[in-house]
Amino acid sequence: MFRTRDRIEIKTADQLQVMRAAGLVVARTLQRVVQITAPGVTTAELDDCAAQSIRDEGATPSFLGYHGFPAHICVSINEQVVHGIPGDRYLVDGDVVSIDCGAIVDGWHGDAALTVLVGDVAPDLKELSRVTEESLWAGLGAAQPGNRLSDIGHAVESVVRAAGDRYGIVEEYVGHGIGSSMHMEPAVPNYGRPGKGPRLVPGMALAVEPMVVLGDPGVHVLEDDWTVVASDGSHASHWEHTVAVTEDGPWVLTALDDVRL
Ligand code: MG
Ligand code: MG
Repeated sequence: MFRTRDRIEIKTADQLQVMRAAGLVVARTLQRVVQITAPGVTTAELDDCAAQSIRDEGATPSFLGYHGFPAHICVSINEQVVHGIPGDRYLVDGDVVSIDCGAIVDGWHGDAALTVLVGDVAPDLKELSRVTEESLWAGLGAAQPGNRLSDIGHAVESVVRAAGDRYGIVEEYVGHGIGSSMHMEPAVPNYGRPGKGPRLVPGMALAVEPMVVLGDPGVHVLEDDWTVVASDGSHASHWEHTVAVTEDGPWVLTALDDVRL
């Protein structure tokens, strides 16, 4: 499943700085969208907020028009895992909402997602989101020069497995290389044995994005051809950051603060 290392785009230090600029646009846009995420707000209003933010930052949305995607962010509610299309649906108290955003600065991409708990959310769903975010940070922490690619997925999976057998990791959708395109080699699964695949070297950039279901991880796509849902109707959580491999370790390009692990 892994391609050879020479298929993976290696960025210069200057190019990573531009990716950091794109990552900051994504981080600030997600922050603005989260601030207005509340019961009674429509998902289209979240999209309008993201569109305004990306425009005001002088950046270009990665998602709008991507394979025909009709919006600036993906908004995926409850049993929706990823790729939900914003529209006239109102958020209600207790919703678990994944918001995914991508932006381009001078041709370089940033991509991140987070899960927002709307109002009063059931404790087991708060824990689902917490475990998923923790698994993301374990995966980011494994993006060390000298590690192998599969060490990232192994780190993600280890956190989810340790949290108990109620959780299922979605396997049909995975993280990805990122840089001059949003989706590039290599695929970054959220599971697997350690020590496999290409060695991580400075200049690689990866989007790590665990998708975890509180139930069976089987998924399918709705008739809108975009929205991915948990087939058994269980709630899902999705967290994502873009991380660069540097000589000093992982640099989280889509964090609001300058986070180096
Ligand atoms: Mg994303
Ligand atoms: Mg992504």
